[in-house]
Amino acid sequence: RWPIGKPHEVSGENFRLGTYVKLRLLGEDKNFFEGELAAMDGEIVRLEGLFSVNIASSDISRLNGAGGEWVKVTPETAALVKRSLAIAALTDGAFDPAIGRIVRLWGIGTPGARVPKPAEIRAALRSKGYKEVTVRENGGECYIKTPPGLWLDLGAIAKGHVADILKERLAADGVKRAVIDLGGNLDLVGDSPEGRPWRLGLQHPHKPRGEYFGVVEVSDRSVVTSGPYERFFEQDGVCYHHIFDPATGYPAKSDFDSVSIIDRDSALADALCTALFVMGRVKAEKFLEKNGGLAAVFVLASEDKVLVTPEARKIFRLTDKNFTVDT
Ligand code: FAD
Ligand code: MG
Ligand code: MG
Repeated sequence: RWPIGKPHEVSGENFRLGTYVKLRLLGEDKNFFEGELAAMDGEIVRLEGLFSVNIASSDISRLNGAGGEWVKVTPETAALVKRSLAIAALTDGAFDPAIGRIVRLWGIGTPGARVPKPAEIRAALRSKGYKEVTVRENGGECYIKTPPGLWLDLGAIAKGHVADILKERLAADGVKRAVIDLGGNLDLVGDSPEGRPWRLGLQHPHKPRGEYFGVVEVSDRSVVTSGPYERFFEQDGVCYHHIFDPATGYPAKSDFDSVSIIDRDSALADALCTALFVMGRVKAEKFLEKNGGLAAVFVLASEDKVLVTPEARKIFRLTDKNFTVDT
């Protein structure tokens, strides 16, 4: 999933947001870019300190421990939670930031991963989910209230949101070409060093990292993929992955092996990938009909088939001969 082409660049890699974050800035001004790169990393660390459920002092952790009281949060956190609630409503709860207790209970991606008992899952599920979360702004001060026992988790949207914030900064600082890679959430700023769209491979869901099934060609776009293969554990021959169906509290039984979305808005792309994966084919097709114009590429789980929306057709090319394309 790394764009092809040899640029004049300054780049850096750090472990952030639970993943490897790679930043590449392309152009001439090396000294300025070194400083910009360090400032971007500082911004990621700052935002992680607000949004992470793994940092006790973060806004989200404080909220999850507040037992139903109003909690004062930064405007950034209020904005992201508001955005999350809006997308949760748009997707009828397929994306639900109130999934925190379920995520913690299963512990997928941690050494404590296990299959919980049905009673534990029932206890961790919130029947109304995101609808029980309230954001209030008052003269520049922001507050959020969640009922006791409801925990937020922004893992399915925060990387995209961080990418959007970094992009705004780059635009303000006059950086015209860059690649922001937040562990598979890619943002391609401007066009490639050759002055053409960036070429980007989409990860094959059943093959080692770096092997792709198709290519997209884009400028100024975010490319985000969600799939069960990213984080999972196996028990008694069953694979349990990290994308949950908020209706059941179990890993979503999806028709898809992966969902990729290509959009300017990285937070939206991130959250919708997760949502469309959870919805499965029938609901996803209805959603796309209602919300036309979205560029999405799906790999079907049952057959070697790729579904491509009309908007994505313009930029996607299949490279794996074992797959066929459907619209
Ligand atoms: P996506 O599909 O985009 O998101 C899946 C993640 O969203 C799940 O892991 C879960 O957290 C949540 N989720 C699951 N189902 C739903 C649903 N239906 N609706 C809404 N959300 C859902 N990983 C670590 O191992 N250690 C860390 O310290 C760590 N810190 C992080 C801090 C931040 C601020 C962020 C954004 C991520 C962090 N991560 C960390 C990674 C995180 O746990 C997830 O693995 C990652 O965000 C999943 O992204 P994805 O693109 O693979 O999948
Ligand atoms: Mg996501
Ligand atoms: Mg993602």
